[in-house]
Amino acid sequence: MSENTSENKNFITDIIDEHNESGRFGGEVRTRFPPEPNGYLHIGHAKSICLNFGIAEQYGGKTNLRFDDTNPIKEDVEYVNSIEEDVQWLGFHWDGDVLYASDYFDQLYEFALEIIRLGKAYVDDSSAEEIRQMRGSLTEPGVNSPYRDRSVEENLDLFKRMRAGEFEEGSRVLRAKVDMSSPNMNMRDPVMYRILFATHHRTGDKWCIYPTYDFAHGQSDSIEGITHSICTLEFEDHRPLYDWYLHTLEIHHPQQIEFARLNLSYTLMSKRKLLKLVQDKHVDGWDDPRMPTIAGIRRRGVRPEAVREFADRIGVAKANSMIDIALFDHTVRQDLDPILKRVMAVLNPLKLVITNFPEDKEEIFEVDYFRHDKEKSETRTVPLTREVYIEQDDFSEDPPPKYFRLAPGREVRLMNACLVTCTDVVKDGDGNIIEVHCTYDPESIGGQAPDGRRVKGTIHWVSAAHAVDAEVRMYDRLFLNEVPEDVPEGKDFTDNLNPDSKVVLTNAKLEPALAGAQPGDRFQFLREGFFYLDPKETTPSHKVFNLTVPLRDSWAKIVEKHNS
Ligand code: ATP
Ligand code: MG
Repeated sequence: MSENTSENKNFITDIIDEHNESGRFGGEVRTRFPPEPNGYLHIGHAKSICLNFGIAEQYGGKTNLRFDDTNPIKEDVEYVNSIEEDVQWLGFHWDGDVLYASDYFDQLYEFALEIIRLGKAYVDDSSAEEIRQMRGSLTEPGVNSPYRDRSVEENLDLFKRMRAGEFEEGSRVLRAKVDMSSPNMNMRDPVMYRILFATHHRTGDKWCIYPTYDFAHGQSDSIEGITHSICTLEFEDHRPLYDWYLHTLEIHHPQQIEFARLNLSYTLMSKRKLLKLVQDKHVDGWDDPRMPTIAGIRRRGVRPEAVREFADRIGVAKANSMIDIALFDHTVRQDLDPILKRVMAVLNPLKLVITNFPEDKEEIFEVDYFRHDKEKSETRTVPLTREVYIEQDDFSEDPPPKYFRLAPGREVRLMNACLVTCTDVVKDGDGNIIEVHCTYDPESIGGQAPDGRRVKGTIHWVSAAHAVDAEVRMYDRLFLNEVPEDVPEGKDFTDNLNPDSKVVLTNAKLEPALAGAQPGDRFQFLREGFFYLDPKETTPSHKVFNLTVPLRDSWAKIVEKHNS
């Protein structure tokens, strides 16, 4: 019998422990992740993946990847491929081949025939509208269909002819004969099969009838020998039906267990709405770094370790709640902070000329990549020359109180290099500052004042002669509202898009050690944040960096700006 050796206990592991104790599944644990291939996976799916694969791993069990491809209209192979890639990127391995609900269409059809033979399913000629009306409401029981008492023979004949394509789309359905007065609407003779003359991405035109989700799902779980069918809370009311089909067919009966879906603030969690963002070009595709898709998160530079850690931290609950996106960002920072090389990059450059620094001189510094970490000793060389770039906002001609960076007459430290004092500014015809002139203290090479005088500000810089050019894309939250769908009448979630969610800086200057950076490399840009060299758009002659996450939460600032 498998045993849960990990400390990771929750209400789902409690249920599994009980089963293992009673021997219900002979100690076996087999879970599945069952996405519908109708869009890219998002961070909510990541939680479900971590849960399903994680729990099986914890018990030495297995997990299937099964595409729930019962709706031929919205599905696409592009989505199938992206989903496989995403699961693997997260670091999980499904058992055996990728599985498809459509592979069970023959078996599901046989199951349907069996339920008809048992007198527990019937072909209904009512229209969709009539069926809806007869279903009743939460306060009123439903009404039996006039076709409910057809004989088994007639039902078998009609269902076979539905399959043979003899009837028009929408003219008939197969329904389970359960209970039209059940307080659970799902039990009021649910539809099992509908006629759909649609080409399926795997079965082509073989079928013109397709099983509903409810009929396909549990039986697919059963066929695969799933023991614990973990799904989100909205399926709780479907569990009696899940059980009814399996019980009626007397086949292997997995346990369905529901958990609360992940809701994240400022984040959309619906494939349908994410598809709209892509189709209407509010974002640059499913893998836009602002998207909450796994593909988008990956392109922002987040590591799978951080996604898994996040899933662990939020845990599993039985009640729906909202998780603060700041927790995700925090988890990403904690993952990257200890491991990324810290380098200097100037995002909005302003030229600084050290007027007493000889033109042909180069001062070379050997600088640790991991100054904060005594265990790591890797270094690079950083050259200082007469002209360097600093950040525009590290200079202020008229400094506000508590501004400790460079200003006329002030002395600051060029990080790891020396102390400079501002002597002059050069402006263009419009009065814009185009250069700052400084003198340096030759005795301060290395960064310390020889007489121990205090210098409050330390700014980063890059030698102009050695700078590596780059484009840097600064990303922020895609939505302005905590709940993007929260909109006044007549508006929709796209009205809540953050107009500043993507800012492209085309003139960034990087320290020369980054000349050889490879697509997929990550760095901490000192005083700025964590950045990822975009593998999709970087070319040998053009580097594109994506902001993964800033050092601190810049969100409050942006909301303030937007509201003013
Ligand atoms: P969406 O509403 O975004 O289209 P879905 O539930 O229709 O999502 P599926 O492809 O059917 O997407 O989902 C595959 C699995 O992922 C299901 O088991 C589902 O319960 C789970 N899942 C989907 N969204 C979330 C979420 N926000 N949190 C946790 N699990 C989720
Ligand atoms: Mg779905």
